[in-house]
Amino acid sequence: MRKFLTQVIKRLIFDNKCSVCKEQLIKNEEYICEKCFFKLKEKNNLKKIGNKYHIYEYDGEIRELLKNFKLKNRKNISKKLALLVGQKIKYIKEIENIDFIIPVPLNLNRYLERGFNQVEEILKESDIEFISIERVKNTKYMYGLKGKKERIENLDRAFSINVDLTGKTILLVDDILTTGATIEEITREIEKKYIIKNIFVFTVALALKSKK
Ligand SMILES: [Zn+2]
Repeated sequence: MRKFLTQVIKRLIFDNKCSVCKEQLIKNEEYICEKCFFKLKEKNNLKKIGNKYHIYEYDGEIRELLKNFKLKNRKNISKKLALLVGQKIKYIKEIENIDFIIPVPLNLNRYLERGFNQVEEILKESDIEFISIERVKNTKYMYGLKGKKERIENLDRAFSINVDLTGKTILLVDDILTTGATIEEITREIEKKYIIKNIFVFTVALALKSKK
């Protein structure tokens, strides 16, 4: 009985379940079981639509993994994600002659809650250099603003880029592409300040509704 209780407590403290299929993990497995990781490797194909790259459709295994990464504060899942996307980002950097990689910044409140930007973590684990766009103030109330103009003006004060992007080719990186609104707003923001050469987007997963 005592042994059983110890095991139960251990399992409660150390959530040793696969982030995807919820099966108990075995020795040497971390955050995701080998089976699920293999499935993700099988689906690992880089696709390009316009100037936007993605690997997965936001569904199945990758959806569970990204959800776990974000909501459960499993920061170390970035190690697994780096194994899946790192090489692809390096490949895009090479073929598109990317000068700067910029992770899409988190809403400040969410950053404080979570304590990390998941995209930055993936890039760090992949050994990829990036520059950060800083949010100079809390933009949470932005959602409350009705007019598009108001929203843009609000964003104008919300971002600060400390690098000269004139004539440069940029790759914006995010985890999931849904409506693309944030990407568009950041692009507009960058283009307002600099005459850039080109801009590309990479997201780990593409939500189906953004396919059209
Ligand atoms: Zn699994």
